[in-house]
Parts: sequence; C-alpha cells; structure tokens
Amino acid sequence: MLRFHNYDIVFQEVPGEVTLAINISGCPNSCRGCHSPYLMKDTGEILDKNVLMGLLEKYGNAITCICFMGGDSDPQEIERLSVFLRNTAGNRIKTAWYSGRQHLPKDCTLPYFDFIKLGPYVEHLGGLDSASTNQRFYRIENETMVDITEGFYKR
Ligand code: SF4
Repeated sequence: MLRFHNYDIVFQEVPGEVTLAINISGCPNSCRGCHSPYLMKDTGEILDKNVLMGLLEKYGNAITCICFMGGDSDPQEIERLSVFLRNTAGNRIKTAWYSGRQHLPKDCTLPYFDFIKLGPYVEHLGGLDSASTNQRFYRIENETMVDITEGFYKR
C-alpha cells in the first residue's frame, strides 16, 4: 500500500509534458541530503485507483502526464497504478516514475511506463540538472530505455 503527501502540476520534471506529480511518502532510500526528508515517513493519504480516478476527473483535461514521485517501497503497486491509468485514460495521459533505485526492479515491465528516472540523490553529484549527476532519465520506446538525461542539464 502506498501513501502520498501531496501533488502538484509541474512543467520541468518530464520534458515536453504538463505533469501532475504525486509525491509518494514511505521512501526507503535514505539519500543523504534528501530534498524532502518528510517523504521518508509513511504518512499521508492512501494512493489507490479511486484517488487516481478523482485526479483524472479533476485535472485530466489540463495535464498530459501523471508522474509517480517515489514509490520504491512497492514498485509492483506503482506498476499496477500505471497500468490502471493507461487503461483508463488511453493514450491521452502518459505515465512517469521517478525512482530512487539504482536499477529497475527485474519484475517491472517497461511498456507500462512512458518515462522512468533511476538513481538515488547523491549530494556532491547533484540532481538531474547537473552534468555530473548519477541519476538517469529515460524515455521508454519500443520496450527500450532511451537515456534523455542530457536534456535536463542547466545551460
Ligand atoms: S529517493 Fe528522493 S525522497 Fe527518497 S531519500 Fe532519496 S532524495 Fe529523498
């Protein structure tokens, strides 16, 4: 079971998309220098299909993507929710997953997502907008992960 702290409409997290980003709590990654340490606590509202339906009804016409920010405590549930969104919204809404894991869990299915970000936050390397970052951002195309991280670097 996943819980979320809040959500927001954002423009930078997924290139080319107007994204509803859902900040999921209960993060198990314990990155030093974490930007949002409150997300390590398992608190907030339960994130389930009913909540996603409500968000789609409210914001579906204003967004092009829904991004799960976190969810590493239960990747299988993230995948189930992504599949639910795709079945419900069809091609109209893309799905993205910001994971802090180094690698994609073996049982995750690439075609169920449009974008996946991998890698914990390492303070001295910086986030996605840093050229030295360890984090990678992928677009999923034909069941392969295309690394488009460079598009985030500050110019
Ligand atoms: S993955 Fe994100 S939320 Fe989790 S500890 Fe690392 S920086 Fe914080």
